[in-house]
Amino acid sequence: MNEYNWKIEHQCPQCGAPVILDEADRLLFCPFCRTRLYLTTPDHFRYHIPIAAINSADLVYIPYWRLKGNGFLVQAREVAPRFIDINSLAVDNKKLPASLGLRPQVMNLKFTSPDMPGRFLQANMSSAGIMKNMDKMIDAASPEKIMKTDMVFTEIMKNIEKAGPIVTLGRSLMADLLVAGLMSDKDIMGDAAMPESAVFYHTVIGEVISLIYSPGYIEKDILYDAFTRKPILPWREEEMQILLSDAKPPNWQIRFVSTLCPRCGWDLEGEKNAVVMTCRNCDSVWNCPKDTFEPVPFSVMPNTSKDAVMYLPFWRMTPRCEGITLSSYADLIRAANLPKAVQPAYETQPVYFWSPAFKVNPALFIRLARQMTLLQPPVELNESFGGASVHSATLPMTEAVESMMITLACVITDKRRMYPKLANIKATADDVMLVYHPFRITLRELIHLSAPLAIDRQALNLGVHL
Ligand SMILES: [Zn+2]
Ligand SMILES: [Zn+2]
Repeated sequence: MNEYNWKIEHQCPQCGAPVILDEADRLLFCPFCRTRLYLTTPDHFRYHIPIAAINSADLVYIPYWRLKGNGFLVQAREVAPRFIDINSLAVDNKKLPASLGLRPQVMNLKFTSPDMPGRFLQANMSSAGIMKNMDKMIDAASPEKIMKTDMVFTEIMKNIEKAGPIVTLGRSLMADLLVAGLMSDKDIMGDAAMPESAVFYHTVIGEVISLIYSPGYIEKDILYDAFTRKPILPWREEEMQILLSDAKPPNWQIRFVSTLCPRCGWDLEGEKNAVVMTCRNCDSVWNCPKDTFEPVPFSVMPNTSKDAVMYLPFWRMTPRCEGITLSSYADLIRAANLPKAVQPAYETQPVYFWSPAFKVNPALFIRLARQMTLLQPPVELNESFGGASVHSATLPMTEAVESMMITLACVITDKRRMYPKLANIKATADDVMLVYHPFRITLRELIHLSAPLAIDRQALNLGVHL
C-alpha cells in the first residue's frame, strides 16, 4: 500500500544511519540507535528528487507545490467529498513543465537543506501580490491563516485553469472517492444555468502541503530535465536571474524536537504520523505547533466494557460563529431541524462541534463529524488513560477547526436559504479539547460503547496513508 505515498530518505541526526520516512510521518525513528525525534518546519516541508553525476554549477532545481488532503465542496444538494492529490509548478513561468507527473512516486525524495549544492528557482507563486489579494479575501485573518492551504490551493486552482488538464490524481485504493476532473470554472464560480453544480463553499482539510524540487541542468545555454535528459527551455542567464534565489533562507532546515515528556521526562508515545503525542507515565497529551511540545487539554471517556477497547480521539470545539446564531444546543436543534422539542434548558446548554482527530477518507470524515456534532455526547473531565490502547491523533487541531464550516453545511436543513449565505458565515473555535472515546473492537468494525457510531477498521488503517 505504501507505493501510494511518497517516501523520504533521511540520515539519522544521531548516528547517520539511513531512515525511510513516509510523506505524512512526523516522527523519525532510527532502528539502529533507537533515536526518536519529532519533525517540524516553520512553513512547509521541502523535498528534492535526488540526482547524481551532475556538476553542481550546472544544477538548477524547479519547485512544485504538492497538495494532498480531503477536499469538500458545498453544492446545492450535497456536500461533495473529494480526495485531492495534486502537484503544480510553483514558478510563474509558462515554459517550465506544469506538473511533476508521476515521477516522485517511483523514487525516494530527500529533505532540501540550505547547504545543498545547486541553484534554486523561487517558488514565486506565493508572492506578496497574491498574499495581498488573499488578505482582502480573508478579512481579519491571522498571518498563519493566510499562509495556509486556502492560498496555495487557490494558486494551484488558478494554475489549473490557466494550463488545462495538468492535474495528476493519486492512485488511491479508495478509487470510488477519486474525482476524475476535480473542479471546473463553473464549480468554482457558480452558474445560474446549472445551480446544482454551484459551489457555495470549498475547503481542503487535513492536507499535506510541501514543495518538491525537481532537478535540471544547464548545458550550452539550454535547461534540461535531469531525468529524461530532454531540453526544457533555452536558458538565458539574465532572464532567469530574477527567478533564482541566491540566498536560501535558514528556515529551509527541518527541525528535530526531542520526544521526551516535558513534564516527567518519560518517552512520549505516538504513531509515526501522529500530530499529538501522549505520555502514559504522567497521563498528559502534547502537540508541537512550533518547535516545542505544548500541553493539549484532553479528556478520556470512561470505559464501561469488559471487551477489548480502542480509544479514538476526537476534537471538541466551542464554536464562535458570525453570520449565523449557533451558541446553544437549542440553536443546533433549530438549524439542523432535529426531531426534538426545544426545552428552555437547551437555550443555555453549550453546543460543540466535533471532528475526528484522525485521518480517514473524506466521506467517512464528514459522516463522523456530522454524527458526533448532532449527538453532542456529554464529556466528563477525566485525564487518565488507565492503560487502554489509544489510536494516535493524526489530524491537527487547526484542521479540525477548519472542518466546522463543512460540518455546519452538513447539518443545516434549510440549504436553499442558508447555502448562499455560507460565504459570509465565519466559524472559529473559542476552546478546543481532545476527547478520547472508547470503541469496542470487533472483527471488521470499531463500535462506540454508548453512541450509535461504527467505524470500519479498514478505513481507519487506510487513513494512515492520507
Ligand atoms: Zn540513529
Ligand atoms: Zn509525562
